[in-house]
Amino acid sequence: MTDTLPRCSFCGIEQSPARPLIVGLEGTICEACVTLAGQVVSNWGRKRILQELNGPIPKPAKIKETLDSYVVGQTLAKEILAVAVYNHYKRLKHESGDDGLSPLHADVELGKSNILLIGSTGTGKTLLASTLARIVGVPFVITGATTLTQAGYVGDDVEHILLRLLEVAEGNVARAEWGIVYLDEVDKLARSPEMPTNTRDIAGEGVQQALLRLVEGARVKVPLKGKKREGDEVVIDTRNILFLAGGAFPGLEERVEKRLAPASHSIGFHASLVSGGKPEAKTLLGETQPEDLRHFGLIPEFIGRFPVLAPLHPLDEAALVRILTQPKNALVRQYQKLFAYENVELEFTEEALLRIARKAYERDTGARGLRSILEQILRRPMFEIPSLSGIERCIVDEKVVDGSAIATTFPINLGHALEPEPASREERCRPTQAFGS
Ligand code: ADP
Repeated sequence: MTDTLPRCSFCGIEQSPARPLIVGLEGTICEACVTLAGQVVSNWGRKRILQELNGPIPKPAKIKETLDSYVVGQTLAKEILAVAVYNHYKRLKHESGDDGLSPLHADVELGKSNILLIGSTGTGKTLLASTLARIVGVPFVITGATTLTQAGYVGDDVEHILLRLLEVAEGNVARAEWGIVYLDEVDKLARSPEMPTNTRDIAGEGVQQALLRLVEGARVKVPLKGKKREGDEVVIDTRNILFLAGGAFPGLEERVEKRLAPASHSIGFHASLVSGGKPEAKTLLGETQPEDLRHFGLIPEFIGRFPVLAPLHPLDEAALVRILTQPKNALVRQYQKLFAYENVELEFTEEALLRIARKAYERDTGARGLRSILEQILRRPMFEIPSLSGIERCIVDEKVVDGSAIATTFPINLGHALEPEPASREERCRPTQAFGS
């Protein structure tokens, strides 16, 4: 009598040196069945995500409309992102076999289109990405490209992005595999010019190389947090993770303008020249080609992984005024809410808003400067008002913004309490009279 070898309880295949079996309490399972079971469970995960995305896929126009409530302007970038996210949903439907398409399309795989957001600092790149995440409801992480290093070196290696995505997905691998990653400041991933060419560049080019695999789509082993033993890891397939990258690319407009200059008259480019004869920054950014980005030290393979370029235009004073007041989380609304906790109505005159916008514009950091300007203007009222009673309104006019007066409060004028801010260091040092005058 020959001993019968154990068989896989699922497919019945016999154990052999090439086909080891995992033994459980009630039966055994072979590697092929484990893989198949993994795929089935992952598909359940996708179906569950689809159900969670309650109801029909939001149309691109709807996605843009929601973005409009939070982000001022940047219409082109919004449209590009809305389409990308809409297609992201469609691929999700397709992959879960729930797309209702005719068999004619069944074999066609839908690729993803990662997006590179190009625009100077404070124009809304991160805000757009994070607002999108809120709309979409898939796991989303923002990571500064400059904090990454190549695997094995001090710093966060690129796999760490996936670990964070998994954390946001509350450990659900299938959800993490449909997430969105925003890589900020990719324009700073160039090899440092001071670095000798024979040295390994673990922070710049090395990170670009390491990211390639992730962005392209790979099955990546992610060591779990607090990993103790070999094997405390999960495999995340990055094929369906949508990558958005953002960068300021300072000087990009000039570079594009230079490249276009000889051709500008022959290709009708002059049609978009502004009155001064110089193309607008947003027109130039819209003409960006991959070769322009190579100048910033991005390797062609990396640029190639981000086939969609979304330009964000610089914000002018009018846009900055709108940013102060219009979005759902507009700064003025935020401070008004803070004052409302003290039962005080906070008001800004139109001229004050304009001056605040002008100040921020002069700082050349987009909308980034707005908060610190407001914080500076409102510091004294926010310090004094909680200790005073009976105040109903606080008004900020242009003089307050210019620093020559203090916020007026009603019914009591707090002139005595709200001393103007001490002059800044530069103001204190400024000569009161020019020599010889
Ligand atoms: P970056 O382009 O450098 O990523 P952010 O998106 O981080 O800029 O913007 C910085 C801050 O400025 C945000 O918190 C947001 O409040 C504000 N902001 C920038 N651009 C816009 C915009 N287009 N609409 C509304 N707020 C904006």
